[in-house]
Amino acid sequence: MDLKTKLEQLFEENHKQIGRTGDLDELNQIRVNLLGKKGPITEVLRGMKDLSADERPKVGAFANQIKSDLQDAIAARKAALEQAVIQKKLAQETIDVTLPGDQVIAGTPHILAQIMDDVETYFIGQGYQVIDGPEVEEDHYNFEMLNIPKDHPARDMQDTFYLDSQLLMRSQTSPVQARTMEIHDFTQGPLKMISPGRVYRRDTDDATHSHQFHQIEGLVIDKHITMADLKGTLLALAQHVFGADRQIRLRPSFFPFTEPSVEVDVSCFRCNGAGCPICKYSGWIEVLGAGMVHPNVLNAAGVDADAYGGFAFGLGPDRFAMLKYGIDDIRSFYQGDVRFLSQFQQEG
Ligand SMILES: [Zn+2]
Repeated sequence: MDLKTKLEQLFEENHKQIGRTGDLDELNQIRVNLLGKKGPITEVLRGMKDLSADERPKVGAFANQIKSDLQDAIAARKAALEQAVIQKKLAQETIDVTLPGDQVIAGTPHILAQIMDDVETYFIGQGYQVIDGPEVEEDHYNFEMLNIPKDHPARDMQDTFYLDSQLLMRSQTSPVQARTMEIHDFTQGPLKMISPGRVYRRDTDDATHSHQFHQIEGLVIDKHITMADLKGTLLALAQHVFGADRQIRLRPSFFPFTEPSVEVDVSCFRCNGAGCPICKYSGWIEVLGAGMVHPNVLNAAGVDADAYGGFAFGLGPDRFAMLKYGIDDIRSFYQGDVRFLSQFQQEG
């Protein structure tokens, strides 16, 4: 067999094999075997020394042509295989952008949390501290320190959950104020605080009563505090919560821990005083209780009642929410019905 035929055969065999290869490693192996120093083409070129002088350049040129064609075939196959790898990867990672997306359901803070946050933020802006206290409370702080000794008739005003003879579920957030007054250093400045939180009463649940509800109580103790300070504070609060046009009126009342004590009405935000079902056609809505801190409460906390005085007030976020949004059943707040709660999307 002459060298030319040998080269043609080499080309035929290897060109086919290159075309069949489906693996990059295998293709590389073919390249090394075919074109390397010990490969068949090198071997053919070595045989050229036996050729005649005029045949040698022709066969040499032909051999180089075969070598170059095979190199091209390997390069083309390599590119095709690499492209196939990319295509396979792309196919596996395909995302169908026409599929419907997952709906993200955004929650919203509970309506009572929204109202409490709003009132807290308001008072922080007025220089008050927000102070938490225990829900399981001592009789001492819940009653005794607030001028409600044992057998005091005022204890009947609050049906209390007792855990034992000394421990109870707090019936008001005022014990937090008693605890704070006790430790506050009045030489460092006045005490201005609110105590928001859950309270508990032994009530039978119905549309207007719940065995748990919320309070935000406020307390200011300093020298020279008067009832005018209380009235100004409450007017500004009522206008913040119920609208800038609101007015307030104070009516005499009784609480054991304040003297004098007042019930606070706000002018009806629905009818502006003309009369409607919300204000029971009186033009006024009762929204909170307040008063000047009783000297007995100051003395019990070790505060000199001759030098210091102050005011206290307590409001019910549950009642505020019911009034503001026309909710007629307090139990709605505590039943966790998302259909009800999701109506109160947070503003802003
Ligand atoms: Zn009204």
